[in-house]
Amino acid sequence: MEKTGAVTTDSSAEYDRIDVSVLVIGAGAAGARSAITLAEQGVDDILVLGKRNHGDAHTTWARGGINGALGTHDPEDNWAVHAADTLNEGHFLNDPEKVETVAKQMPDRLRELDEWGMEYSRTEDGAIDQRYFGAQSFRRTAFAGDHTGESLLDTLVDRAQDLEIPYRENVMITKLLSDGEEVHGAVGFDMDSGDFVLFNAGNVVLAAGGYAAIYNRHTSRDDENNGDGPALAYDAGASLMDMEFVQFHPTGMAVDDSDPDWEPWSGRLVTEAVRGEGGRLYNSEGERFMERYSPDQMELDARDVVARAIAQEIAEGRGTDNGGVYLDISHRDAAFIQERLPRMYERFDDLGVDMAAEPVEVAPTSHYGMGGVAVDEYGETDVEGLFAIGETMAGVHGANRLGGNSLAETVAFGAVTGDRLVDRVDGPGAVPADLVDEVAEPHFAALDAMASREGTYDVMEVVAELQELMWDHAGILRDESTLQAGLQRLSELREQSADMDVGPITSDSFEFAVDIGFMLTAAEAVLRGAAERDESRGAHYRTDYPETDPEWQRNILFEDSDIGGMRTDTAPVGTPSDAVQTALDEGHELDYHQLE
Ligand SMILES: Cc1cc2nc3c(=O)[nH]c(=O)nc-3n(C[C@H](O)[C@H](O)[C@H](O)COP(=O)(O)OP(=O)(O)OC[C@H]3O[C@@H](n4cnc5c(N)ncnc54)[C@H](O)[C@@H]3O)c2cc1C
Repeated sequence: MEKTGAVTTDSSAEYDRIDVSVLVIGAGAAGARSAITLAEQGVDDILVLGKRNHGDAHTTWARGGINGALGTHDPEDNWAVHAADTLNEGHFLNDPEKVETVAKQMPDRLRELDEWGMEYSRTEDGAIDQRYFGAQSFRRTAFAGDHTGESLLDTLVDRAQDLEIPYRENVMITKLLSDGEEVHGAVGFDMDSGDFVLFNAGNVVLAAGGYAAIYNRHTSRDDENNGDGPALAYDAGASLMDMEFVQFHPTGMAVDDSDPDWEPWSGRLVTEAVRGEGGRLYNSEGERFMERYSPDQMELDARDVVARAIAQEIAEGRGTDNGGVYLDISHRDAAFIQERLPRMYERFDDLGVDMAAEPVEVAPTSHYGMGGVAVDEYGETDVEGLFAIGETMAGVHGANRLGGNSLAETVAFGAVTGDRLVDRVDGPGAVPADLVDEVAEPHFAALDAMASREGTYDVMEVVAELQELMWDHAGILRDESTLQAGLQRLSELREQSADMDVGPITSDSFEFAVDIGFMLTAAEAVLRGAAERDESRGAHYRTDYPETDPEWQRNILFEDSDIGGMRTDTAPVGTPSDAVQTALDEGHELDYHQLE
């Protein structure tokens, strides 16, 4: 990595320039894992950056586990069944090739994490323990108590530090440097000093997370998952895909919003592991209502099925005072709950609720965007040199995601993309002068102007309005007129966003003002895709088209066109390999009653 020094531009914005061969934007599990492969294979001219401190990425919030067919308890499990389960859950909208990549990679990725010191929960004889997660044929989810994400990222960060991989904290990327055909780096600012930075890089890996926080009830950290990754790629000329598929996790905390102790927890995740360990759902009439919706799978049916069932119970007046239903695991003893679900137990205990003695209240919450950037089998977008991995990429999850598969995707594609890049790295390249003059420098000037603008609208109010809009117009139950009205409201918000009272570059409101630009792109794609897809499939449910239409076994792609803005196109889905087709034909099924 070479720092070329401060540059002063004609438009008066000063910036630092840094030259690297590979710039990794994002330091969650995906970004860290890709950099590890590069460093292990001798590529040291890399820089990983994140908009938070080292080791502090959204990944740390993952609780329940990470999938891989190790077969610790169920030796019949293998990668092909893992792939078949993933395609089934994705309603066959996933890219079979990417699904197979993840499923094949994972046993090795899990073992390698073990070698690097990951604190897995273990069986009595010391093997990596694996548990059931919803809609999987076998016990395939490895875990570290209920802090799997934290343990995973700690392990990767330790490994990255052993390999002396350069890391830069608290830098926010605001734009990629691309001519639409090829990427040449990125620009952004140091969030501590407010200084602008230009990164000259021949290859860029976008591992900047997803877009689930564009909804007001969401499980993400408030300042992450605002669509930075997909929106940066879209702006650079890459296509987005499957954006209409947003997973609403069935069990977010349902709280009394007027109680200051509880309010910050609204929508926060109650891990699926609570149901995996035997938790049962009851409505306000004391009925275990999943018997009506899914008598075989009960609480462990797919997330979309359970989320819609809960939404239906609430809509029909059988919800609790706080707008949820009850989740009850009190038939298990306290020692079991404390051992298997330590963080959950502690969280509710701190709020005065003993999970071993009484139920907790839950309701659906936006959890994960299955869509993202369209990439090839190596994670490369259609902009040369620009890769997208982890939650930023699309293709693995299709219309719905299996719990435990997104952590799997981060390390699997981190390794695949890292490998691919090793052969391609040939120095930082040279960012073309016209991109500097016509894109980077005017962009810095625009950021400067935004910071000093005394606009009409408050940044956080615009964020809140956008999130509310998405919940109201593109939530669990969707229809044509609500979606179209959402698009109309979105264009009004876009106008407001150009007239915001922002504040200095180092302020939180400046960060969110930049994020609003990303959120608007992600929100528009979700609304457009949901309006165009006139069928119901997986997490996308249209009350006016409640059936799945076989003609719609196609992905919707979103592109930025010079004329008319966002344009959509569709493409057919690939076919699974023979091995996976055989696993599909075998019709593996979990005997859900053994979970009781
Ligand atoms: C509450 C919760 C629980 C979950 N539990 C599970 C689970 O049990 N199992 C499972 O498989 N999945 C789970 N998930 C999903 C999983 O955690 C994520 O999909 C995964 O961690 C994403 O990792 P990532 O590396 O792609 O992105 P992230 O971990 O989100 O990292 C993104 C990185 O990009 C950086 N960044 C973002 N924007 C910018 C920008 N503009 N400029 C610079 N840097 C930027 C961030 O600072 C961060 O370093 C859960 C998700 C949530 C919300």
